[in-house]
Amino acid sequence: VLQGRGICKSYGSKRNRRQVLFDVDIEVRSGECLAIIGASGSGKSTLTRVLFGLESADCGEIAYRGQAMGERNDAVRHMLRGETGLVFQDPFASLDPRWHVARSVEEPLRLHHRGMGDDEAASRIGRALRLVGLDPAVFAARYPMDLSGGQAQRVAIARAIVDDPGVILADEPMSAIDVAARVRILETFHAIREANPNMSLVMVSHDLGVVRHIADRIVVLHDGRVEESGTTTEILKHPCSAYTRSLIEAAS
Ligand code: ATP
Ligand code: MG
Repeated sequence: VLQGRGICKSYGSKRNRRQVLFDVDIEVRSGECLAIIGASGSGKSTLTRVLFGLESADCGEIAYRGQAMGERNDAVRHMLRGETGLVFQDPFASLDPRWHVARSVEEPLRLHHRGMGDDEAASRIGRALRLVGLDPAVFAARYPMDLSGGQAQRVAIARAIVDDPGVILADEPMSAIDVAARVRILETFHAIREANPNMSLVMVSHDLGVVRHIADRIVVLHDGRVEESGTTTEILKHPCSAYTRSLIEAAS
């Protein structure tokens, strides 16, 4: 559904430029979970931000549902934004502390479905909360400060799925969550995928245990280049490159 070809990206001023992505090809297929792994600073977050149209690339082409993305504010970028659910590392940073849970989860419906009635919205919010394992009767009226990290992240995930996105981008969704709660988050993603077989999930993670459990395919980034890509079994059991082997060894 989402393809990037020849993506390059640099940061910095003219005099002090640092290239972060070099000619990256990447494809997210319909219904799959694609994991992006690589050392810190290898460009994982930058690649996903560019691929999802949150930042522009210096060169290369991005296509969503077969349509090429153009400059800022173009229709394809807009369509992709409206059909993407975003989950980031720190759930508390991504939830508005002034809003209770139901209001946070409702936000994408307000942004992208202005005409939706209150009953329909309420039923979607309830469904999303139940899918992430939070009883609406208990959690709908709570504020972020009264949630654990794991619960807050599940609220952020509920918000990401409330309007049935085609693609979810989750950038290190478990790194800020304590180990005991990570299992629940992983189960949550499994439940969501089961309930939405056509939805694609792009997960950035340095936790290869998590990746092994959820990803269908893996892209390995190394200093802004694709080191290798393949099915989860291929990459984790029979890595081609020494770099990938070192990532796997470091994790085990
Ligand atoms: P991590 O695992 O630590 O999250 P990452 O693989 O996600 O790392 P990126 O955040 O994509 O890596 O960063 C890649 C490189 O680009 C880093 O050297 C980083 O310092 C640089 N970089 C990222 N964002 C910016 C920015 N907005 N301005 C300048 N440099 C940036
Ligand atoms: Mg990152």
